[in-house]
Amino acid sequence: MISKKMIPLMQNNSAIRMMFEEGKKLAAVYGEENVFDFSLGNPSVPAPPEVNQAIVDVLRQEDSLFVHGYMSNAGYEDVREAIALSLNKRFGTDFHQGNILMTVGAASGLNVILKTILNPGDQVLTFAPYFVEYGSYVRNYDGELVVVSPNTVDFQPNLSELEEKINEKTKALIINTPNNPTGVIYSEETLRRIGEILERKQKEFGSPIVLISDEPYRELAYDGAVVPFVTKYYKNTVICYSYSKSLSLPGERIGYLVIPDEMEESRDVFQAATIANRVLGCVNAPSLIQRVIGRCLDAEVDVAAYDRNRNLLYGSLKDYGFECIKPQGAFYLFVKSPVEDEKEFCQVCKNHNVLVVPGSSFACPGYVRIAYCVSYERIERSLPAFKKIAEHYHLI
Ligand code: PLP
Repeated sequence: MISKKMIPLMQNNSAIRMMFEEGKKLAAVYGEENVFDFSLGNPSVPAPPEVNQAIVDVLRQEDSLFVHGYMSNAGYEDVREAIALSLNKRFGTDFHQGNILMTVGAASGLNVILKTILNPGDQVLTFAPYFVEYGSYVRNYDGELVVVSPNTVDFQPNLSELEEKINEKTKALIINTPNNPTGVIYSEETLRRIGEILERKQKEFGSPIVLISDEPYRELAYDGAVVPFVTKYYKNTVICYSYSKSLSLPGERIGYLVIPDEMEESRDVFQAATIANRVLGCVNAPSLIQRVIGRCLDAEVDVAAYDRNRNLLYGSLKDYGFECIKPQGAFYLFVKSPVEDEKEFCQVCKNHNVLVVPGSSFACPGYVRIAYCVSYERIERSLPAFKKIAEHYHLI
């Protein structure tokens, strides 16, 4: 009954989701307050009040048939224009509504652009560690995900290996900055060099290579860190944005693609992506939340709350002798396992009711991901458990 393509997906069902399920079981035994579940990237800071107010205002002020109806498959024109103008104001770009395609979150945006550009056998590159779903999304369109190995010194991407791995089958490169799971922001220099490499390689092989920038964490940056705007460094760039984390709306499933005019065959790509959005079954992004987003373009979640969590967790884990780099963005800490097999480390953590995700889930074994999008109090209460884990490994 089940399709051959689905069977491996069922066998490798996400370790992150499994940890989350594990957390629920532990909570039933030890009590919710005694389990420290750092497995899931579900925002812990509520959506800004502007969002709820906008929902009420849209329902009160706009025509019901319009708000709940079908619209252009690319989304409401006025919302797309408002997003384009907001990007122009913030990043000095020159977008218009014809560059913005509303999507059902980043997951759907990635699927839409991959469906738009991939032929069977095409290769898509990405840098480890990476968001595990990329492999499934690329295989949806019979492409092959090719992984560039991690640079564990500072987790900026490994550019010499990128250059070696590009060949005539390479159709795209997916990057994610601020990064899940490391929290690293790719520097301007890194993006400039990626742009140069792709430019050179597409000339060498005579076919375009699309840079797909997956950016659900763009707004979550700390200590004044700037997240460079990727379209400035390479013309064939498509941005895949989401409001899941930046406005704490993951269940609402809303985001957009930016397909700039500078991109080769930009109009055709936009049209094909709009059709991909339709035939993938999304038809269009959810209508009510599109209208809401159009009114909330200056709203922000309380990033300072994540920053407090970051400082407490990072500072404490360093004090206990763990090795990790300080995240500049997103809400994850990527910690080096004190033993080679990080799954064993995860098990020891679990014995202390601490749930973390093995780095092998992100193609970076030897590390674990701690999602600190939980309450500050939960991090405070988890510290004795982390201390005991450190003592178990004689780190202190
Ligand atoms: N890309 C990355 C790097 C993510 O971490 C996530 C979600 O955690 C997604 C994409 C999917 O985001 P969305 O909820 O907008 O589909």
